[in-house]
Amino acid sequence: MMAADSAAQVVPRAEDSLRVLIMTPTGRDAALAEDALNRSGLSTFICGDEEELRREVAKGAGCVLMAEEALPRDRAATWDDLIGPEPAWSQLPVVLLLARGHAQKDLALLRKFEKRPSIGFIERPAQKRSLVSALKNAIDARRLQYGIRDALDALQTANRRKDEFLAVLAHELRNPLAVICAAIHIKRRSAGDDGDKMLSAIERQTQQLTRIIDDLLEVSRISRGKIELQKERLDLVSLVREVFEDGADKLRGGKHRKQLSIQSTELFIDGDPVRLGQVFSNLLNNAAKYTPDAGAIDVTVTRDGDCAVVVVKDTGVGIPPDMLTRVFDIFTQVDRNLGRAQGGIGVGLSLARGLVTLHGGAIEARSGGADKGSEFIVRLPLSEAPVAPNIEPARDRRERRASHTKVLVVDDDHLVGKLTGELIASFGMEVQVVAGGAEALEVIPKFQPRIVFVDLGMPGMDGYETVRRIRQLPGGDSLFIAALSGWGQAEDFERSAEAGFDRHFVKPIKISELENLFASESPT
Ligand code: ADP
Repeated sequence: MMAADSAAQVVPRAEDSLRVLIMTPTGRDAALAEDALNRSGLSTFICGDEEELRREVAKGAGCVLMAEEALPRDRAATWDDLIGPEPAWSQLPVVLLLARGHAQKDLALLRKFEKRPSIGFIERPAQKRSLVSALKNAIDARRLQYGIRDALDALQTANRRKDEFLAVLAHELRNPLAVICAAIHIKRRSAGDDGDKMLSAIERQTQQLTRIIDDLLEVSRISRGKIELQKERLDLVSLVREVFEDGADKLRGGKHRKQLSIQSTELFIDGDPVRLGQVFSNLLNNAAKYTPDAGAIDVTVTRDGDCAVVVVKDTGVGIPPDMLTRVFDIFTQVDRNLGRAQGGIGVGLSLARGLVTLHGGAIEARSGGADKGSEFIVRLPLSEAPVAPNIEPARDRRERRASHTKVLVVDDDHLVGKLTGELIASFGMEVQVVAGGAEALEVIPKFQPRIVFVDLGMPGMDGYETVRRIRQLPGGDSLFIAALSGWGQAEDFERSAEAGFDRHFVKPIKISELENLFASESPT
């Protein structure tokens, strides 16, 4: 532990990174070795005890030259005990000078050390030439390890940049999407549902776009460990049924034969309904994408011991055996041309695996090969049935639902504000739209809204400052204030909650979210 602590505190210096750390019990041996190595151009450092060795390893070392007598004999030591755990790329080379004469050697201890890679033994009396060449080899090996470390660092940096880029990209795409979604919805409501095919096509494509953006963001969040499940005890049978029924109409205009078989009435699990919904809708969507129109899609929900098992099976293009595990890797597609033609970017299954794993479950793909159909099997650990399943959990003040008709929308983007306002008005609400925080503070006392939607990224007074100032107005504390933003990462949700928002909706806000919000209590 000590070594890990000191490793965390010390920033290695480049000139230390190729040193030979020498540890022998007698100062004379150490001085002789040092002299020989320095003459050969190797830089050295003599360590007096284990503590010093640990400290110097943490500062940086090319290899360790150690006399067998210096090994700790009094406990069941391993190399890790001696210098502490190493990073994944590191395997610090060690050259061990064996005691003179067979009888002197501690064979049990040596056998244990022998198991470690990157360890070399030199019999004493050691020839100067063989000692120097063994240490030079060890340092060359260490250089290669540093190369791996640098490549890993570069990969991590590139990966972080990619995640940041995806977050910004998704944010920028969400604003125009919000406008398009709102416009479609308003058009549908005002025209009545006259089966306008073009409008339906735009709506379907927009939903697809929104899904791809959501998936991209989620998968980058999972890879950074930044996803938090909102778990509740839920009935998986109902959840799969909802996803199936919701998805069934949308799947390629309903041309496949689709069937849902449920072999248990209720299967309770602890899960996040939104995320699991995403998993099953991705699987269903894929089944439809990769199955010709005449094919069949079968979904079954069963119980297997302590697990709930959901199987999504199709009679489509199938998956070659060597791709069965790889399809879960991000950006992997069996047939790029086919994947793209079907509107995919190779993220859905990676997300599904990440989410199922976060739930303590497992996902697996099976297929008989090309054109033999595919089967995706999701297993999730079962929980006990809830004691009183129909009693709604008590909500705290922040979770209480809005119940009144006047709604204020604050957004600096004129078009986004206008269309969000019109969308909300189409639910029968009385709406005012303002372009910024300062204006909102003026309007609220006069208009007396009960619900306020605030964009976060606004010039001048941003959304966070706006909500803080609104809360200070008389009655501001009891207003229902929602953030409406393109930013939708876990830290964004935390930040808006801290600033005083009751809810955080991600653009484009879903019609169902608005319906839930407005329908929760009858408007006065
Ligand atoms: P995509 O956006 O490409 O569909 P996914 O991560 O959802 O990305 O799937 C990765 C790849 O796995 C797909 O491109 C496809 O090659 C293959 N795949 C997924 N589901 C199926 C299926 N039901 N049948 C055949 N191949 C599938």
